[in-house]
Amino acid sequence: MRIEELFRNGHSLKELSTFGIGGPIRFYLEVSQIFEIQQAIEWALVHKVPYFILGKGSNSLFDDRGFNGLVIHNKIDFCNYDGCCVSVGAGYSFSLLGSQTAKRGLSGLEFASGIPGSVGGAIYMNAGANGQETAQVIEEVLYFDPSCGDKIISREQMAFGHRESSFQSMRGAILSARFKLTENNDARKNQLAYINYRMTSQPYNEKSAGCVFRNPSKELSAGALIDQCGLKGLRYGGAEVSRIHANFIVNISQASSADVMALIQQVQQQVYEKTKIKLEYEVRLVPFE
Ligand SMILES: Cc1cc2nc3c(=O)[nH]c(=O)nc-3n(C[C@H](O)[C@H](O)[C@H](O)COP(=O)(O)OP(=O)(O)OC[C@H]3O[C@@H](n4cnc5c(N)ncnc54)[C@H](O)[C@@H]3O)c2cc1C
Repeated sequence: MRIEELFRNGHSLKELSTFGIGGPIRFYLEVSQIFEIQQAIEWALVHKVPYFILGKGSNSLFDDRGFNGLVIHNKIDFCNYDGCCVSVGAGYSFSLLGSQTAKRGLSGLEFASGIPGSVGGAIYMNAGANGQETAQVIEEVLYFDPSCGDKIISREQMAFGHRESSFQSMRGAILSARFKLTENNDARKNQLAYINYRMTSQPYNEKSAGCVFRNPSKELSAGALIDQCGLKGLRYGGAEVSRIHANFIVNISQASSADVMALIQQVQQQVYEKTKIKLEYEVRLVPFE
C-alpha cells in the first residue's frame, strides 16, 4: 500500500492540542510503525508539501487556519526494560514513563509524571521540572534524517539547553530513545510528591500548552517575572494569563490562536517596559504554511 492511501481527511488541530486551538489539517497520518514516518517524510519532500511531526500537541500553538500540509501524528509507543535502561517509542506517553519507571524504583524521570507530552516531544523540547530534565538521562536516540536515513545519535552527539535541543534545528523525526536510570528506593515517593505539587501549582485541568516563555536565567523564572508585573488574570478574547501560574496562558472560552498571540505580545511588552527583560517563546508556534 502506498503511504498516501493512509492519509485521512477531516481532522482538526483543535482536537489534537492541549490548548484546544487550531484549524483543519490538509493531510493527516497516524503512524504506529517506524517505516511509516520515514515514508511519510519522503513523500512530503518529493511532493514539496510542508510536514509537521505531532506528539501530543502539549507545547504547540496551532494557527486557526490549520496546517496546509502533512501532519504526522506519532503513535509509536513500545516500551522495553533492560535493567536500569528503558527503550521507548517516541510516541509513548512521557507522563506514563515517569510514573512507571518510578514504580519500578528507577530514578531520573520522576519529573516526567504529569507532563502531558510524548517522549519525542520531551526530547525535542528537553522537557524538565523539579530540577530534573530529559537531557540528564537520555542515552541514545534513533533518528530518521531525510538526507541519510536512520541513524543512532549518542548522548555525546546531542546538545541541550533550557527547553532547547539540537533536534530543533533538524528536519527529521525522533523515532525512539533509550534512557539510562539509576536504582533509588525513593523514586516513587519523590514522583508522587512532584505530581501533587504540580496539581496545585499549575492550571492542570485547564486548556493550555504549558509554559509560554523560557526562563530568562536559572535564577529567574518567567512566571515569577510576569507575576511581579501584576499580569495574572490579564485577558484577550478567550485567552487569559493563568491566575494559578503566570507563565501559563489558558484557553478559557474558545480562544483563537490570534487571541493567544495578542496576549503573548501584551505580556512580552509589559514585562519589557517594567523590567527591560525580553521574554523568549518556549511554546512552539506552528504557522499555516
Ligand atoms: C498542563 C501542562 C503542563 C506542562 N508541564 C511541563 C513541565 O513541567 N515541563 C516541561 O518541560 N514542559 C511542560 N509542558 C509542555 C509540554 O508538555 C512538553 O514540552 C512536552 O514535552 C511536549 O511534548 P508533545 O509530544 O506534546 O510535543 P508537541 O507539542 O506535539 O510538539 C512540540 C515540538 O516537538 C516536535 N516533535 C514532537 N515529537 C517529535 C518527534 N518524534 N520527532 C521530531 N520532532 C518532534 C514537534 O514537531 C514540535 O515542534 C506542560 C504542558 C501542559 C499542557
